Amino acid sequence: GEYLKAIAERNPALNAYITLDEEKTRAEARAADARIAAGNAAPLAGVPIAYKDIFCQTGWRSACASKMLDNFVSPYTATVVQNLLDEGMVTLGRVNMDEFAMGSCNENSYYGASRNPWNTARVPGGSSGGSAAAVAARLAPVALGSDTGGSIRQPASHCGITGLKPTYGIVSRFGMIAYASSLDQAGPMAQTAEDCAILLNAMAGFDERDSTSLERAKEDYTRDLDTPLKGLRIGLPKEYFAEGMSADVQKTVQAAIGLFQAQGAQMVEVSLPQTGLSIPAYYVIASAEASTNLSRYDGVRYGHRAAEFANLDEMYGKSRAEGLGSEVKRRIMIGTYVLSHGYYDAYYLKAQKLRRLVADDFQTAFKECDFILAPAAPTAAPLIGSSSDPVQTYLSDIYTIAANLAGLPALSLPAGFSSDGLPVGIQLIGNHFSEARLLGAAHQIQ
Ligand code: GLN
Repeated sequence: GEYLKAIAERNPALNAYITLDEEKTRAEARAADARIAAGNAAPLAGVPIAYKDIFCQTGWRSACASKMLDNFVSPYTATVVQNLLDEGMVTLGRVNMDEFAMGSCNENSYYGASRNPWNTARVPGGSSGGSAAAVAARLAPVALGSDTGGSIRQPASHCGITGLKPTYGIVSRFGMIAYASSLDQAGPMAQTAEDCAILLNAMAGFDERDSTSLERAKEDYTRDLDTPLKGLRIGLPKEYFAEGMSADVQKTVQAAIGLFQAQGAQMVEVSLPQTGLSIPAYYVIASAEASTNLSRYDGVRYGHRAAEFANLDEMYGKSRAEGLGSEVKRRIMIGTYVLSHGYYDAYYLKAQKLRRLVADDFQTAFKECDFILAPAAPTAAPLIGSSSDPVQTYLSDIYTIAANLAGLPALSLPAGFSSDGLPVGIQLIGNHFSEARLLGAAHQIQ
């Protein structure tokens, strides 16, 4: 009730929620109350949550912030959402994002940009901008996001909250609308690492309906929250500190180094020599996968269909021309190009090789350190309307995309403020399956 009231008051200015259904929310809350009263409720019963519009959910419009899916009410529910519904968590609504999760500012949404609660002239970041804005503005205690190249960590940094991209494969992708399947991973966004750990406990698990889901024993991701940092080795990649980082971000990273050292952690310099290759590799691979994943939006079975057409080809063409936004079209064009005969070896195959080199860099670095400390983004949140050059925007993903290419867990936590009062986060990247300790390290300095 309190959250719905706050949403009614503040959401018009923030545009974080793009779909609300008070009746459904209240029905879920009553069901949770009944379970609590009957004494058979899970610990998260009754806790409200906001879902990024990328997660399919029965009976809710699941549009991925695209005109193409504006009329799509999902007939099924994503596994990760179902896991949380089974806990008794209550859906507050569906939150804004860049169309099909392509972007870093939330300005690519069919429903208009969401705004940063700290300063509404600024973007909340993206693509999970609505999730970050909702949590930061206390319009939800927690939210789900998805991260293909930084879309959980970068908006978390811009909005002053905590967000985790888990190891690839530990959270089911079934029912999460696909952007780049080998990189996409759902994760928790919350005020604290502790809340992220509690949420991840309910989210993670094997799912036979996701072919890349990992079959592993259940873990308790809260187990290291109180583990001291003494002796922890934190790697500082020298390539990350060479150039491109704003003074605000530099100052914040330095402050975080101080906090870690004060608790007995040890700083070591490491090297990730292929850092410069990660952006070209990512944009080739992500666009290639996007071009195939998005071929399903043809206006035939569901989604937008052009009103007038002379034949089948024209129906496909017009439906896609009308239904998809310009950034999505750009990715489809790039992806189709790099996968086409004659260019496949030169671009797609080459990018796959670079991906391996980027991943190998991390394995070498993790011989010398437990976690890598890095910025989450080169600057604090930019002004709305300031990111008109797509290549410039792609370059701002430099600190986040390598973890996706390597399938590594990484989180972003609030660590300071810019000179004009905007939150700035830092990032911790760990080796595969190190979530518990990663969340613990964040918790210790929070
Ligand atoms: N900015 C990146 C992109 O546009 C990352 C997006 C994401 O993680 N979903 O691809």
